[in-house]
Amino acid sequence: MKSFTPPNRILLGPGPSNVHLRVLEAMSKPTIGHLDPKFIELMDEIKELLKYVFRTKNEVTFAVSGPGSVGMETCLVNLVEPNSKVLVCINGVFGGRMKSIVDRCGAEPIELKVSWGRAIDPNLFEDTLKKNKGINVCSFVHAETSTGAKSDIKTLTEIAHKYNCLVIADTVTSLGGIPVLIDEWNIDVSYSGSQKCLSCPPGLSPVTFNERALEFIKSRKTQVQSWFMDLNLILSYWGGSSKRAYHHTAPINSLYALHESLLLLKEEGIENSWKRHKTNGEKLVEELEKIGLKPFVIEDERLPQLTAVTVPEGIDEAKVRKSLLDDYNIEIGAGLGELAGKVWRIGLMGYSSNEENIKACVGAIKNIFGK
Ligand SMILES: *Cc1c(COP(=O)(O)O)cnc(C)c1O
Repeated sequence: MKSFTPPNRILLGPGPSNVHLRVLEAMSKPTIGHLDPKFIELMDEIKELLKYVFRTKNEVTFAVSGPGSVGMETCLVNLVEPNSKVLVCINGVFGGRMKSIVDRCGAEPIELKVSWGRAIDPNLFEDTLKKNKGINVCSFVHAETSTGAKSDIKTLTEIAHKYNCLVIADTVTSLGGIPVLIDEWNIDVSYSGSQKCLSCPPGLSPVTFNERALEFIKSRKTQVQSWFMDLNLILSYWGGSSKRAYHHTAPINSLYALHESLLLLKEEGIENSWKRHKTNGEKLVEELEKIGLKPFVIEDERLPQLTAVTVPEGIDEAKVRKSLLDDYNIEIGAGLGELAGKVWRIGLMGYSSNEENIKACVGAIKNIFGK
């Protein structure tokens, strides 16, 4: 055995996205202690930078140690008490995952199922809240990475608040790629992931909680089911400006990377990043249509950072992906769940969202089809 040398891939799947050299370099800096005053300074800067990308003033904004799924579970276990009712919107894989977590919390998930590839319908959402009394938390996915559909979480939040519910918004694939305005839209709780439009290696999940959500967590009658994810305990390490205490050993070098990737985003300007994702997403669809490929999601509900493409009749979709990877060093995603074998998922997330990548990918697909 010898040291591992990864190939140089162009990552155009549903995440991870390519990582900027500056971020990789940041990761290779010397490890220091998780309570070193210099490290605490870095944590404070990360909190500031995350507030910038989430567009929030929420004091409780930090990065959970773990991938997006851990962020998802953290938000749910803190807000969901046993025997409570939670409205879970399911229009793809990730809504389904939220439902399983709600089940495991001992609560009752009220499911709102929407066709895969479509946004969550606000009218159906309101009907579900009207018909089912006693729901106190609603959860939904902003950018459903399994289908490429975008939901209007601003409107969903407005409706949920009319019925006195707290909302949990999954912004794993949206954060950094399309507007996510936590304060303006009044989102109570949200979690994201480091490896999608933030272009950082996987393993960290930015989260944010507003005052309303914190009040609720403080007044819970039961203790949070998870020790590791109990916000009251995590905040002894990440919280406030007072003394920080050991909770778990933070992934030091991963946090160096997150800091650098957020800094890159700040330097570009978040609005510019949204614009870049939009322009490149539209360009990709335009180029795909030129070679006869059709986007799976209607234009109004389509994400620019993740395009699901319908696999044409008679094409072996796995063979195309294999050739892209083996012959062109390009990774794209397969369909998940219901959409397995039916679509490809092409991501233009974060640092991966650029014109050269669109040319390389569409050019390679054209070549493969030509053979
Ligand atoms: C990727 C993703 C997740 C899960 O993130 P992991 O880092 O893979 O655990 C959750 N929700 C959405 C919408 C995602 O795209």
